[in-house]
Parts: sequence; C-alpha cells; structure tokens
Amino acid sequence: MERVFRLHVLASGSSGNASIVEDTNTGKGVLIDCGISKRAFLEGCAATGFDPSGLEAVVVTHEHADHVKGLGVVMRGLSKLGHRPPLYAPAACVSASKALSDLGSDFEMRSFSDADQISAAGMSIHPFRTAHDAAASFGFRFECGGDALGFATDTGMVSPQVREALGDVRILGLEANHGLKMLDAADYPAYVKSRIASDRGHLNNDQSASALRTLLCPRLEAVAALHVSENANTYRAAREALSGVVQQEGHHASVQVGYQRRPILVG
Ligand SMILES: [Zn+2]
Ligand SMILES: [Zn+2]
Repeated sequence: MERVFRLHVLASGSSGNASIVEDTNTGKGVLIDCGISKRAFLEGCAATGFDPSGLEAVVVTHEHADHVKGLGVVMRGLSKLGHRPPLYAPAACVSASKALSDLGSDFEMRSFSDADQISAAGMSIHPFRTAHDAAASFGFRFECGGDALGFATDTGMVSPQVREALGDVRILGLEANHGLKMLDAADYPAYVKSRIASDRGHLNNDQSASALRTLLCPRLEAVAALHVSENANTYRAAREALSGVVQQEGHHASVQVGYQRRPILVG
C-alpha cells in the first residue's frame, strides 16, 4: 500500500477551518478552506511541518464565513511571496459570497461541480455534494499514487453518495460536530439548534460514528473527528464516539480529533 498523503488540520470548528492535504513525496499540497487568520495559518503550517510555498491549489467546500473569511489575507500573503495558487470554488458559492467574488478580481478562480475532477499538486481531487444550508456544499476525495484520503465536514447527513466517496480511503477526516444532549443544553436560540441538528446542518457524534462503522475497511489507518463544536460537544466525546466504533469492530485505525486552536497532523 502506498502512503502518499498527510492531512494537516490547522484549525477545525465553527470559528474557523483550514486543512492541507500534502503529498509527502513532493511537499506539495492543497489547502481546503481558509477561515483563519494569516498568522494562525502560518503558525499552523510551521507547527505541523508544511512549507506554504508548496501550496498548488485551494479548494473551497462552501461559502460560510468559518471556511472563507481568511482566504483573502492568506492568498495575498502568499502572493507577496510569489505564490499564486488557483482557487477552486463552487460557482453558486461565489455568487452568494462577497468574500469569494471579490477574490475573483485578484486571483485565478475556477468553479467546479460534482461531475468534475480537479488536478492539482499531482493529485486528483473528486468533489462530492454534502447536505448543508449553503448555496452549495462539497466534500473531497483525494487520490494520488495509489493512496486515498476522504474529507467531509458541514453535512447534516451522510448520503449514499457521500458514503461512496469516502469509501476505501487510508485517511478519513469526518465531521463530528455536536452531541445531541449537549446541543440541547447549549446556549443557542431554538432555531439555531434545529438548524444544526437538521439534515442540512451538521453531523452529530452518533451519526458520525454510524457512518464510520460502514466506512471501516482494511486500508483505513487514520481517522480525524472534525468541525467539533466548542459549545455543543467536547473534543473527548467526539474522539470517543469514533474510537468506540474502531474498538468495537477490532479495527486497527487510529482516531484523532481536530481542534479549533491546536494544529494536528493526521496520517
Ligand atoms: Zn463550518
Ligand atoms: Zn457551514
């Protein structure tokens, strides 16, 4: 089995998201979303050992602020260093987001749909639709040299298409946003709670665990629980929901959790 990828989760959660999929043979990588400051981005890269000059593309899951609000400062910062990776974003998200459409005047912007395959950093990237209350929303499957990595956050449910896209991967980043009881007890207005819990909101720990049960395969080595809510979950509960499945099934995969303020390296 080829081990090509590493996943750098620089930040994950409702205050800001940014992850990098790196080809460890070349040091090249693709940034997924950037809802964090330039400083947090650069410190995160330094902490997990990614050289930002290796970024060859940026892919955007959807237009919510926690995924795009740092794109401008980070892209301009990279540009000053002579790096101008193209930005791939769903067309509907660009139309719906000033932050994204403004970037189109300064940077090379390419749209994609779930029928497309993106080629960047020597990887092929397959976008797939997720179920979320954005203009459009996507997860990604990365493939390179026989290795595969699946990434899905901000989805209220795991559709058959999502399940298929995340199947037979070695590294899996999967949303475990909230615990149902913790969401119930959280200090949010009722409409926000029902939005989060809906089929177009976020995956809870139990949904994430049941999805993982169906995704366990011999190739799977590393799982990261992502987009964990600081108000309606704990890092421990999210990690235990997924590691519980791995233990019950006697599987060998390791389980980590992505933090809002502590970068991690997966795989
Ligand atoms: Zn989000
Ligand atoms: Zn979102």
